[in-house]
Amino acid sequence: MNPFKQGIDHLNKTAQIMGIDDKELEILKEPQKITQVSIPVKMDNGELKVFAGYRVQHNNARGPYKGGIRYAPGVDLNEVKALAFWMAIKCAVVDIPLGGGKGGIQVTPSELSQAELERLTRGFARAIAPVIGPGKDIPAPDVYTNAQTMAWIMDEFSRIEGKNVPGVITGKPLEIGGSLGRDIATAQGGFYVFESLLKEKTDIMQDNVKIAIQGFGNAGMNFALIAKKAGYKIVAVSDSRGGIYSPDGLDIDKIIEHKNNNKTVANFPNSQNITNEEILELDVNVLVPSALEGVITEANADNIKAKIIVELANGPTTNEADAKLHAKNIIVIPDVLANAGGVIVSYFEWVQNLANYYWDRDTVLTRLEKQIVPAFEAVWDTAQKHNVDLRTGAYGIAIKRIIKTIKLRGV
Ligand code: NAD
Repeated sequence: MNPFKQGIDHLNKTAQIMGIDDKELEILKEPQKITQVSIPVKMDNGELKVFAGYRVQHNNARGPYKGGIRYAPGVDLNEVKALAFWMAIKCAVVDIPLGGGKGGIQVTPSELSQAELERLTRGFARAIAPVIGPGKDIPAPDVYTNAQTMAWIMDEFSRIEGKNVPGVITGKPLEIGGSLGRDIATAQGGFYVFESLLKEKTDIMQDNVKIAIQGFGNAGMNFALIAKKAGYKIVAVSDSRGGIYSPDGLDIDKIIEHKNNNKTVANFPNSQNITNEEILELDVNVLVPSALEGVITEANADNIKAKIIVELANGPTTNEADAKLHAKNIIVIPDVLANAGGVIVSYFEWVQNLANYYWDRDTVLTRLEKQIVPAFEAVWDTAQKHNVDLRTGAYGIAIKRIIKTIKLRGV
């Protein structure tokens, strides 16, 4: 599966349905700029290793490029291109004045020491420094990068510039310009959207809603905590090493403790071990893919029993699977909306950095809700009007907004 091709195929399909002129779309079919770098790193044993890194800048018609940096063994150019494209769509769907970009390094971070990770990150920051900056392109965390990674990039960029530049990156630790609420923003945004959907579709959920979550990192773990606190039953969670299932519900706080001690959620007492394939097909009401792309495919779409899928991961559903789910009346809250809470609060962090004035947590979360709930309503209404799925509704809104700015600015 080529995730970038999947994204562009959906762009074309949406344009056809919404009557958008194909010529106007051309500019959105390839990124504006690709920076590919080789990063030499001296390992702790004295050996030199070279890593491949990417920064893809898809479109900046609506504002500076924005998007995370991923450290994972499967990172390649097509994946980063897809993620950058989705960022451009996402920022437009939730109507924040930013474009789309994304970065990544092909690496298995668990095999590197903290010192090696720091040297790799600083090397990457130096390599992409010419193309990033608060008015140009503002990276953020993604899979296997975190606040510490962002701190190193902010520091390296600030050294190059000879001044403190917190606005070059978001998802930083609070002490150096991070925003309150950024840690839970992706999950919280997904939860606001999920509850907004339930208000529209009051018939879809009975009491005793059961949720399964694939991926137990920033997005998945925080969604589990938020949903559990709100009274939903989390019956299954998983990480890269496997999953666990208990039909009576899982104690999320205890699982976090277990994962901290054992590096995985697997083998949690009084639960059944399951695979990352099995978790998708459980008898639950809500499925929340929160790990990697391309996990719901033509091969397993027919076996999915959930009535609602909240895509906290980027690109978890292939286009072929999407069509099958829609035919089965399964509602998919698409990634470009469901996980947009992360970029919304990243936007707030950048605004706070530029103003050098910081908001309290309630202000951040209230403004997040005010940004994402109307976006959900607009996507819902568009989907209803054109009798399409929510992803197509979201793409339609985004494409029109981006094309409008391109026209206003002139080509
Ligand atoms: P993370 O590194 O914090 O957590 C990733 C989780 O996925 C870990 O629990 C890991 O064990 C698990 N995982 C990795 N490979 C897996 C596999 N093959 N099968 C099952 N689980 C696997 O990353 P994150 O920030 O939570 O990101 C998860 C997803 O959410 C990604 O698709 C990311 O692009 C998306 N996302 C994250 C944010 C954010 O703010 N963090 C924002 C928007 C979208």
